[in-house]
Amino acid sequence: MIIVLLGPPASGKGTIAQEIEEKKGWKHISTGDLLRDEAEKPTERGKKLAEVMKTGNLVPDETVTETLKEFLQEHDLKSFILDGYPRTPRQAELLDQLLESRGQKVDLVLRLKCLNKTIIERISSRRVCPQCHAVYGLNIPPKEEGKCDHCGSALIQREDEKPETVLKRIKVYANVTKPLIDYYEEKGLVKEVNASLSLEEVFAQAFKALE
Ligand SMILES: [Zn+2]
Repeated sequence: MIIVLLGPPASGKGTIAQEIEEKKGWKHISTGDLLRDEAEKPTERGKKLAEVMKTGNLVPDETVTETLKEFLQEHDLKSFILDGYPRTPRQAELLDQLLESRGQKVDLVLRLKCLNKTIIERISSRRVCPQCHAVYGLNIPPKEEGKCDHCGSALIQREDEKPETVLKRIKVYANVTKPLIDYYEEKGLVKEVNASLSLEEVFAQAFKALE
C-alpha cells in the first residue's frame, strides 16, 4: 500500500502518518525531514537546500525526487506513506515513473482539509525533536515540557514554523497544489479528511479511508 498524504502546513500530516505507521506498520516518509537532514550536510546540494528552506520557498522538483529515490533504494519498502511529496503534477509524474521502475504505484491520496485559523493555533504550540523528528503540539504534549519523550533531546520550534513564514507557506501551498489535486482527482485516487476536527475524529476518518 502506497499512500500520498496531502495537506497544508501543520494540518497534522505528520501526526496522522505516525498513527498509520504505528497501527499498520507502513513506513512514514516525511520528505521535509529527509530534506532537512540533507540540508545539514556540508555538500553543494545541502547548502543550496538550506538557503531555499530558510526563506520558506519550495525545493526544486529534481532535488526532492533524487533525495527520495536514494532513500527508497536504501530501504526497499513495500508499503509507505509519503508526507510532503509530491507537491506538483511534475513531481507526481516523476514519482509515478520512480514507482513504476520499482513495480509499484500510488494506491490512495489522502487529502487533509484544514482552516487557516486552526493551522495558526496549532503552529504556536508545535515543537519538534531535532534528533528523532518526533512532533509535539496541543494534542500530544511531551510528558516533560521541552523534552522529547523518545530520546530526551531538547525540543525546538522550527524556523519555518514561525507565523510569518507559515502564512507564506500556506499561500504557496494552495497555489502549487491545486493542479496536483486535479491530477490525482482525474485518476480517482483522492479521499478527503476534515483535519480541523479533533485528533480522534481525524484518525477515525483517515482509517475509514484506508479500508
Ligand atoms: Zn527525540
